[in-house]
Amino acid sequence: MTPSTPAESRHQLALEMLKQDDAGRDDILSKFTALASQLLDVPGSFVSVLDDKQQYIKGAQQFALEQTSLDDALCRHTASCGTLLVCRDTLQDARFSTHPLILAAPYIRFYAGAPLRTRDGAVIGTLCVADTKPHEFSQQQVELLELLAAIMTAWLDAWYSSGFRDVVTLLPNRHKLMQDIELLEKLSIETPHRLVLIDCINTPRAYEIARSLGMATLETILKGMATMLRERLKLSKDKVLYSVSTGRFALLTSIQSPDWLGEVSERLGKIHAQVYENISIDLAVRLGEVSFIPTQCPAPEVLRRSVSALHEATGQNKPFLSYDAQIDHRRNLDFRLMHDLATALRGGNDLYLVYQPQISLHSGAPVGLEALIRWQHPELGNIPPAEFLPLVEKTSLMAEVTEWVILTVLSQLKKWVDKELQLPVSVNVNVSDFARAGFADWLETKVHEAGVPIALLRIECLETEKVLESPLAMAGLELLKRQGFSLSLDDFGSGYSNINYLRRIPVDVIKLDRSLIYRLASDEASHTIARHIITMLKELKYVVLAEGVEDEQTLLILKQLGCDEAQGFFCSRPLLPEGLEHWLKGQSKAEG
Ligand code: C2E
Ligand code: CA
Ligand code: CA
Repeated sequence: MTPSTPAESRHQLALEMLKQDDAGRDDILSKFTALASQLLDVPGSFVSVLDDKQQYIKGAQQFALEQTSLDDALCRHTASCGTLLVCRDTLQDARFSTHPLILAAPYIRFYAGAPLRTRDGAVIGTLCVADTKPHEFSQQQVELLELLAAIMTAWLDAWYSSGFRDVVTLLPNRHKLMQDIELLEKLSIETPHRLVLIDCINTPRAYEIARSLGMATLETILKGMATMLRERLKLSKDKVLYSVSTGRFALLTSIQSPDWLGEVSERLGKIHAQVYENISIDLAVRLGEVSFIPTQCPAPEVLRRSVSALHEATGQNKPFLSYDAQIDHRRNLDFRLMHDLATALRGGNDLYLVYQPQISLHSGAPVGLEALIRWQHPELGNIPPAEFLPLVEKTSLMAEVTEWVILTVLSQLKKWVDKELQLPVSVNVNVSDFARAGFADWLETKVHEAGVPIALLRIECLETEKVLESPLAMAGLELLKRQGFSLSLDDFGSGYSNINYLRRIPVDVIKLDRSLIYRLASDEASHTIARHIITMLKELKYVVLAEGVEDEQTLLILKQLGCDEAQGFFCSRPLLPEGLEHWLKGQSKAEG
C-alpha cells in the first residue's frame, strides 16, 4: 500500500480490498494455498481475512467454508498473538477443544497459521493449513509456512500497487485517487474535504508536443511538471500529488480556508518549460476544485464535479474556479440537448422547417423565403434555434444540422417546383460549413440530384467576422459563388465591424439586421444611420433586404430610403409549407 494515507487507514484499506471478491487475485491465492498444502503435506489450506466481526475465507483447498463469525475463527488466535500458531491436535488444546469448527464440520483437528501483514506490520489475515486428523509439524515446516506467508504478502502488495501509479510521473494515478476518496467514505469521515485538479497542459496541446517534439520530450516535460508542482506548492512529504491524466494533476486536502485556492493558483503561476536550448513553451496552469463531505458524495461524483469546475475555468478563461452546481446543471442540460438533437437529426418529426417570406419593396410581390429551423422537443417542448444552435456551433453536429436543413429544403423545393411554385429559398450557413472540405461540391451535387434549379437555393452567410478570419471558409464561399449560388450576408450592422470587408466577400444581397430597423419609425438617429447605410450599399450595387420589419410605417420608410426587400412579422411570420402556400395564394389574390 502506498504511504499516502495514515497507517491505520492503510490497514483498513488493505482489509477492505482483501475482503472483496476478485476472481483474478483469488485464482492466484488458490495456487498459493495449493502449493502450501503440497509443500507442507497437509491437505487443507486457506487464506483467512479478519475484520472486527467476521472471518472471510479465500483460496480454500479441501474446505467448503466461506465465512464465519470472528468468534468462530481459529485464525483469530494467530492474528492476536501475531506469530505463527501451530496446534497439532485441537482436541488436546483448551483453546479449541469445544470449538464449533472442531466439534462439527469441517472437524478441524490440525491447524497451523501464519499471519499476513501489511508493510506497516498490521495483521490483515492468515495463511493456514488444516486437516481433519492430527499432524506433527516440524521446525522446517514452520519456517516454510512463514516463508510462504511472507511471499504471499509481498505478492499482494505488488498486486495492489501495480495499476495505481502513473508510469510516466510515477505519481499515484486516478485509480489511487478514487480509492483514497472511497477510503475517506469508508472511514465515515464527516469533515469537508477538497479535491483540486491542476491542469498544466491540455490534451490537444500534449498531442501537438508529442507529434512535433516526440513522446520522450513530452514525458520529460510531464516529469518536470510533477517535480515543479511539488516545489511550488511546498508539499510536505506526507502530502500526495496525483497524476490523473496526461498533464493533469490532483490534490486531496482538508484545508478549509476560503482563499486557499486563489493562493495555490498564484503560487503555481505560469509554466515555462525549456524543451531544448532554443525551444521553450509557456503553459497556463488552471485549477478546478470541489468541496465535499466524504460520506455524502461518492468518489466518481467528486471527480466529475472537479472536472466540471476545471472545464468551466477553461471555458471562461479563468485561472481557477470552484464547482458550481447551477452551472453544472446547465451544462448537463446542454449536453442532454446535444444528445437529443443528434437523435432528432437521425429521424422522427421533432425537427422541421418554417419558411418566412421576403417581399419586394418595389413590386410588393414575394421574392424569396428564408428557411428557419424549429425543434419540438418531446419533453422540453419548443426550443428556439437561438437556444440550441450556439451549443451546436461548437460541435461537429453543426454539419449535420446544416445538411439536414439543406436536404429538407431541397425536397420541399422539389415539391413546390412540381406545383409550379418557383420561389427561391435561403438557408442559413455557418462558418464551419463554409470551411468544411467538399461542402460546395456536396451542395452542388445535392441540388442536381434533387432536380431543382440552382437559382432556387440561396445561401445566407452567418458569422461574417469569423468567415473573414478563416481562409478556408473564404475559399469555400468563393467556390459556392463560382458554382452559381446566390449569397447573402446575414445580420449586417449587428456588430461593430469595419465595413471595409464588404469588398472581400463575394455576396449579392445584404440583410440589414433587425437592430438597425426596429427603431426606424421612432428614432431620428436610427433613421439617419439606416439612410446612409442603404445609400452606400445601393451605390456598391448590392440588393438590400431589411430584416425584422414589424409594422407598416417601418416598411414605408424602408421603401422611401431605397431598400429593395423586406422580411418580418409585418409581412408574415415564418410559416409551415401548407400555411405558406395558403399565404401566397392570398398574396396573389391581393395583387390580382
Ligand atoms: P436570422 O437568420 O437572423 O433569422 C431571423 C430571425 O428573426 C428568425 O428567428 C425569425 O423568426 C426572426 N424574425 C423574423 N421576422 C421578425 C420580426 O419581425 N421581428 C422579430 N423580432 N423577429 C423576427 P429564429 O427563427 O428564432 O432564428 C434565430 C436565428 O437562428 C436565425 O437568425 C439564425 O441565425 C439561426 N437559425 C435559424 N434557423 C437556422 C438554420 O436552419 N440553420 C442555421 N445555421 N441557423 C439558423
Ligand atoms: Ca438568416
Ligand atoms: Ca439575420
